[in-house]
Amino acid sequence: MDFGDQAQKINEAHLARAIAGARMAEPSAPSAAECRECGEPIPQRRREAMPGVQLCLDCQRESEGGFWP
Ligand SMILES: [Zn+2]
Repeated sequence: MDFGDQAQKINEAHLARAIAGARMAEPSAPSAAECRECGEPIPQRRREAMPGVQLCLDCQRESEGGFWP
């Protein structure tokens, strides 16, 4: 087993996650008026609370596995 190689892979995973996090903190897309998944309108309050939001609460909950209580 090559531990150096494994450490390299772990580092790359960390970097990818850090980049993904930075992208989420700075959304480039405007909030969607309707859910990308089911087409339900996304409430204005939710769009203001989550800039760049693309999913309604139900679909977001499904995609994140219970992030929202
Ligand atoms: Zn939806």
